Amino acid sequence: MDKKMMTIDLNSKVLLDKAERDGVETMYDRKQNFKAQCGFGLQGNCCRICGMGPCRITPKTPRGLCGADEHVIVGRNFARMVAGGTAAHSDHARDIAHTMALASRNGNYTIKDESKLITLAKEWDVETEGRDIYDIAHEVADVALMEFGKPYGVARFLKNAPVKRQKVWKELGIEPRAIDREVATIMHSTHIGCTADIDSLIHMSLRTSLADGWAGSMIGTRFSDILFGTPTVRETEANLGVLEENKVNIILHGHEPSLSEMIVLASEDPELVELAKEVGADGINLAGMCCTGNEVTMRHGVKTAGDFHQQELAIVTGAVEAMIVDVQCIFPALAKVAKCYHTKFITTFPKAKIAESTYMEFSEETAYEDARRIVREAILNFKNRDKSKVLIPELKSSATVGYSLDAILGQLDRVVNSQIDPTGTLKPLADCLKSGVLRGAVGVVGCNNAKGVSNKAHITIMKELIKNDILVVTTGCGASAAAKFGLMTKEARKLAGKGLATVCELVDIPPVLHLGSCVDCSRILEIVSETAKTLDMDICDLPVAGVAPEWMSEKAVAIGTYVVASGIDTYLGIMPPVKGSSRAVEILCDELQDIVGAKFTVNENPEELAQIIISDIEKKRVHFEKLVEEKMKQVVEVEV
Ligand code: SF4
Ligand code: SF4
Repeated sequence: MDKKMMTIDLNSKVLLDKAERDGVETMYDRKQNFKAQCGFGLQGNCCRICGMGPCRITPKTPRGLCGADEHVIVGRNFARMVAGGTAAHSDHARDIAHTMALASRNGNYTIKDESKLITLAKEWDVETEGRDIYDIAHEVADVALMEFGKPYGVARFLKNAPVKRQKVWKELGIEPRAIDREVATIMHSTHIGCTADIDSLIHMSLRTSLADGWAGSMIGTRFSDILFGTPTVRETEANLGVLEENKVNIILHGHEPSLSEMIVLASEDPELVELAKEVGADGINLAGMCCTGNEVTMRHGVKTAGDFHQQELAIVTGAVEAMIVDVQCIFPALAKVAKCYHTKFITTFPKAKIAESTYMEFSEETAYEDARRIVREAILNFKNRDKSKVLIPELKSSATVGYSLDAILGQLDRVVNSQIDPTGTLKPLADCLKSGVLRGAVGVVGCNNAKGVSNKAHITIMKELIKNDILVVTTGCGASAAAKFGLMTKEARKLAGKGLATVCELVDIPPVLHLGSCVDCSRILEIVSETAKTLDMDICDLPVAGVAPEWMSEKAVAIGTYVVASGIDTYLGIMPPVKGSSRAVEILCDELQDIVGAKFTVNENPEELAQIIISDIEKKRVHFEKLVEEKMKQVVEVEV
């Protein structure tokens, strides 16, 4: 396939041409060179977890040397993916909790959302009366840190789910205990000679994934809001056209807001802005990429440079002085690409060092000074820019972002008749779902994947859903794609069906809502959970779904699994490596329905996948409307 056919993003196409002219290798070249990927890996039936292996399953060798069959091997590989994803999200969250433990009135990190902290403290039985807000913060941080390794009990946030859902988890024995314990248990159980039962492996994958969604990621999101501010609605721009010819361009890539928040502050430091002018630039232009991009756009309106598949292409513009990264989803290839230009590829975290990068360690203890040092390095690099190598593509799109649960409640209040109903609730959303003006709501999340055409599945599915009156909420690189393609503008309402367009008009929102980064999928859990509670239903009763059209990371596997375990049907646009076990497919794509009330569906054709989701939502509505009717009858009977 022509490289340029591997993306629908026009800026990316322009830069792929430039990369070729500049002799720079990108992921698109590497994909072409990988003539065929290994069939055993694709099916998930190769195993290399012990020194007797690697073993792979074929008709002639239906078992590995230890006797593990295809179901055991696929199940173990799947469970390890879930553990990897859970570990990544949760270690991110642990860092944020540590950052909160360091917060002080005059320090680098302060408490930005006191009322959210107080609410959480009360939820967790931390004394708030008459105490200094920082004493409360430190105690709440300590409680959160215990969530990673407490010896007894289950994750604290589980009790925020609808009671019926909590019962499902309890009866199945999939209530996650301590986060690290669940990850360690999977690593133990998938060691040679331990669990050899696919049902049990998937069962523990469900529990571990819940430790991500309902503990690790939820801590990450809540704590980030408390420390850095709960996102509010704001305007921004997206795509590589946000880079500026006359400014020092700094790209923030990765995941953790403890770094990016400090870089945002440092880039506004008058001394550093002055320095940028001294080196001949008009100022400093900060732009985000991947989930760090999502974090800073949600809280500060920092422009989004691009998504996962654009990280190399950003450097190919020749206009980036520094790409500052922390952890997760950072191509090691960036070190090589940066060497072809003047760009400084700056790694900052001891847990994600990359060979041939410029390592400038960032520590929360010395956060602001470290951030200043890093931004200064970027500014001083402006003089090395080779103007003849610069090509900033033209396209960028405006976007409205910042839809935290609190921001959504604020928008919904616009349609509340305060004589009748209280403000600050999700009742208007529940009412729209009940009446059918909104047919349903779908979370479109996840990455870009070189197995498909970059951005195509995201955009095709989002457009189809909104056309059919289904509200879309999105996070991660799905959100970046939506922002780039103009789906987060008010004008995008004209792409929506009549019902959704009317709701968008009245509530004053775009049809696709940016909810943040990948850990912020926990916001989706909260919204769905609160809506279910408003309607006195379980999550699996609602006409909602999750879809990861272009997923690629283990984190996405963990997300998909906890979404299903929470009772939300999940649709994948890329087949996970489980096809090697018919039993794995049977459980994941069918039997889970009877167990947790939701299942996976996979279809690699985005048009078809969109139609399947829409038709399943409509089927779900039959059940949902019946429940609504029953509940109304009960109310009438009580009143009579
Ligand atoms: S655990 Fe079993 S199947 Fe896996 S590599 Fe070792 S012998 Fe082979
Ligand atoms: S959506 Fe996927 S690719 Fe993008 S930042 Fe998150 S995990 Fe990485």
